[in-house]
Amino acid sequence: MAIEQTLILIKPDGAARRLTGLTIDRLDASGLEMVAAKMISVTEALAREHYKALSDKPFFENLIKYIRGEFHGIKDHRILALVYRGENAIKTVRAVAGATNPEAAAAGTIRGSFGRITTAGQFENVIHASSDPADAAREVALWFKKDEILP
Ligand code: UDP
Ligand code: MG
Repeated sequence: MAIEQTLILIKPDGAARRLTGLTIDRLDASGLEMVAAKMISVTEALAREHYKALSDKPFFENLIKYIRGEFHGIKDHRILALVYRGENAIKTVRAVAGATNPEAAAAGTIRGSFGRITTAGQFENVIHASSDPADAAREVALWFKKDEILP
């Protein structure tokens, strides 16, 4: 099986609800290796580029506000971005994360344990995880410079 890299973002609800440590604990338990980590200010441009495939969705504008921390009072729009590496890393992290809709996410997954749907219909699901190899390559390169990732 191929060694893969995948991008993870601890979303603003995760940070605001003090779930950063718990989330990393579950990622570590997967046996994958953390090879990059940084706090980064999510500019409007970065948010729109990251989620550009969803730009025609009705929830898109709120998604941009959400990932920039505007619903959770996140100072300077900062979030924790991580890269994990290992065999089958993309699917492994998606499995640990759980389904997109927190209501549908299995018990014991990060989203199943900690996610919620707001009364406005926003999915607050604690974590972003790349969904396939093409997305993972694009997203890792978007959020990290080469020399910020361990060889
Ligand atoms: N999202 C939402 N409502 C939806 C679908 C998605 O609020 O009906 C948000 C949610 O935060 C999700 C993000 O948009 O994580 C990106 O959606 P995607 O379909 O890529 O899901 P993911 O890859 O995060 O599981
Ligand atoms: Mg996605």
